[in-house]
Amino acid sequence: MTTIPIIKITQESATAAPMAQSPFATRRDHFLARLGIWMRDHRFVIQAVQWIIVGVYAFLLIVPVYLPLPDETAHLWNNLTVVAQFAFWGIWWPFVLVSMVLMGRVWCGVMCPEGALSELASRYSLNLPIPRWMRWSGWPVVGFVGTTVYGQMISVYQYPQAALLILGGSTVAAIAIGLVFAQNRRVWCRYLCPVTGVFGLLAKLSPIHFRTDEAAWKAAATEPRGAPVVCAPLLPLSKLESSSSCHNCGRCADYRGAIQLASRESGHEIVVLGKSSATGWQTLLLLGGMIGLAMGAFHWSASPWFIAAKQWAAEWLINHDILWPLQTNAPWWMFTHYAENNDVFSWLDGSLLLAYIFATAIVLGGGIALLLYGAAWSLRTERTRQTFYHLSQALIPLAGCGVFLGLSAQTITLLRADGVDLDWVSPLRISLLVLASLWSLWLGERIARQYATQMHNRLLSNTALILACGAVDLGWSLLFWIW
Ligand code: SF4
Repeated sequence: MTTIPIIKITQESATAAPMAQSPFATRRDHFLARLGIWMRDHRFVIQAVQWIIVGVYAFLLIVPVYLPLPDETAHLWNNLTVVAQFAFWGIWWPFVLVSMVLMGRVWCGVMCPEGALSELASRYSLNLPIPRWMRWSGWPVVGFVGTTVYGQMISVYQYPQAALLILGGSTVAAIAIGLVFAQNRRVWCRYLCPVTGVFGLLAKLSPIHFRTDEAAWKAAATEPRGAPVVCAPLLPLSKLESSSSCHNCGRCADYRGAIQLASRESGHEIVVLGKSSATGWQTLLLLGGMIGLAMGAFHWSASPWFIAAKQWAAEWLINHDILWPLQTNAPWWMFTHYAENNDVFSWLDGSLLLAYIFATAIVLGGGIALLLYGAAWSLRTERTRQTFYHLSQALIPLAGCGVFLGLSAQTITLLRADGVDLDWVSPLRISLLVLASLWSLWLGERIARQYATQMHNRLLSNTALILACGAVDLGWSLLFWIW
């Protein structure tokens, strides 16, 4: 089997410069530092994990396409298509999101099949320079919106060929990018992966990260250097602090005696670094995408408003003798079309689905943006817009929790269909939403404290955040308990 190149750092290079006045003196940090070095020195283990996942991924993605669609007798224990659905949407996606919060982007660096294939392809790359358009900061938003909406249009959670089109298409694109640009790098993962933006936001909450001790880095400048480390997602190793783009692959551990896997306070990146690093694109992805658009995508199939709008529109069209939107002749790759399952979208269904998702994104995301902009304004800072971006990042825990709950609803549905007793799910959902809301409010208060020391100055800001959290919680309550 072909393998990804091993970037081996010699023991000499790893220990060339002793760690400067170590800020990582606790036992936990000592353990983490050793873990990072273990990852660096055991690339073959990581590669073995990656290739096992690549094999399982390819099997579950491709084989179900050639099997008949599951009928009412299909269960997790007797139907490979149901197993694949459960694996992709019930386990993989929800728990990859959780892993981002707990461990940063370890998934990307250690397990992701798409990243592994893209990096393998980049060994044979034409090595063209990365074009400017590819570095555009808006791609993560476009990618997330595109895959989320298209996934709903073709019912990606239900049908294997839809999953193959979206997930497989993304993998083929990742390999193609690897073959063309920047040898031995992960250009796709850094700039174009549809979930890199979401992963980058959630990883800000991670309590561990690879960080550079700048003093040690400078002190090692005069020491003889070992083999250079190739950071696949193209990060500047001399200044590692944020977890957003680092894949936690471990290759740079102890490089120049200055880089370590270390612990940090979980909200540090949002509260402290976010003051200057939060951007408008991140805010759009968070408020419009992870909160607004995702809620619309999970809502529409259960929404009585959607059904009422569809009935009204259908009656209006029939009364005006406009019948073509009611036809169901769209191909499966445009709108869901599985006649054998009685699951066929008309043009009207598809258009209303798009309208519903985008309307939710605009109303919910836009409403929260207005609230938070008002909050930023109430803090009387010099740069209201940057403060607004910063304050928005307080909602990352709640946004991540919502996407997790939405995705895990698929897990719950499949398990319920197989007769598993899940009475504990409702209390767990309530608890997660409450905890995530409190976490967001706590981050918001700490962010606001950086701008205004007096409580009365922060009152409006905190009130706006409470309303924003309430709106998100209400949205998920509609789906889980009211409709
Ligand atoms: S900075 Fe680069 S090389 Fe180091 S752990 Fe992160 S992704 Fe890997």
